[in-house]
Amino acid sequence: MKKEDLEKYEKLLLKKREELMEQLKIRKEVLDTTIKESTGDISGYSYHMADQGTDAMEREKAFMFASKSGRLLYHIDEAIRRLRKGEYGNCHSCGKPISKARLEAVPHARYCLECKEKEENEKSGVR
Ligand SMILES: [Zn+2]
Repeated sequence: MKKEDLEKYEKLLLKKREELMEQLKIRKEVLDTTIKESTGDISGYSYHMADQGTDAMEREKAFMFASKSGRLLYHIDEAIRRLRKGEYGNCHSCGKPISKARLEAVPHARYCLECKEKEENEKSGVR
């Protein structure tokens, strides 16, 4: 892969990483606040009883989001690491170069579209 391409993808990855960090930070603040509100204030306990179901759901959602973003962050970090080692842009399964269009859409992609689709079909039980 050409140097200017690598630089382009590195920029894309770093930008995505920044966005993700921002989202994770916001979600963590929401999560912290929700926990504090539901455990911190004893006088408001009965008042909050009716909302407890919703609170739990909100916490759950925030946590799910955080873990999904956490995984994405890991993949982006891995892609940046590969890029700096000069291993970026080849499919982990078949070893062929991943198409530029795919890397532009998903800069942390580890598999080419073919292998990705194959894997997804296997996972969902399509034969
Ligand atoms: Zn492949």
